[in-house]
Amino acid sequence: MVLEKYKEKRNFKATPEPSGDLELAEQRAKTQKTSKELFFCVQKHLASHLHYDFRLEHNGVLLSWAVPKGPALDPTVKRLAMKVEDHPIEYGTFEGVIPSGYGAGIVMLWDQGTWTAQVDDVDAALTKGDLKFTLDGYKLKGSWVLVRTSGRYPGGPSSNDGRSWLLIKHKDEWAGDVDIIEFAPNSVKSGGDFADILAQDNPEIWISNRPAKGGETGALFERIIERALEMKGKVPKTPVRKKPATTKPATTKPAAKQPTAKQPAAKKPTAKRRTQ
Ligand code: MN
Repeated sequence: MVLEKYKEKRNFKATPEPSGDLELAEQRAKTQKTSKELFFCVQKHLASHLHYDFRLEHNGVLLSWAVPKGPALDPTVKRLAMKVEDHPIEYGTFEGVIPSGYGAGIVMLWDQGTWTAQVDDVDAALTKGDLKFTLDGYKLKGSWVLVRTSGRYPGGPSSNDGRSWLLIKHKDEWAGDVDIIEFAPNSVKSGGDFADILAQDNPEIWISNRPAKGGETGALFERIIERALEMKGKVPKTPVRKKPATTKPATTKPAAKQPTAKQPAAKKPTAKRRTQ
């Protein structure tokens, strides 16, 4: 069934993500043949780890890859892209906060536009594991390729389960050594960063129970929550960044709405933001 995995993973009563209309997906699959230019997007997703979800419209759904380090404009740089479940087309313009559950975190629409296959048969190219295409987005343009790999790639899974691909820029006028991730970090939908997106929602939901607690991702969440609260002129009752714990963990405090595991000492913010 179309979008079966997508629906399986999510509880649409608890997430603002689009539920995906199966009839619409089928209709779109039928009408796709008449249009050459199809939708693509990249969603910057701060969840248990920061990553970039690369999505190409095909047969009424969005083929999706999670790219831990994000796309690179340098043709010598190969970026690991893990194939994930197809997403509904409506997901392509989604930006917002997933409060809990699968993918809990903040989704930013980092780039969008159209894509054109540079092959006649996209399904055959996907089966072969070599899809060449052009992008016409705000940030990403020109010729690219997705190639499936053996899986034995630094940072990739140890076994070959067929999910490991590499996203590579081809040499053309749109290639270059600009680090596009750092150069253009914000949303193409709202212009905002993660804190702006969270401030549009309810940043208080994560004071006691955030999607990532430890490590660099946890520290990134802390800074974002603090900034979002500041933007709303709200000062949390308990500090978001806790001082190194000297007594009991926070679970006994009445302020904590949900039981939490003991919190590791908050790390000082560093200039380096990416975790991958
Ligand atoms: Mn994701």
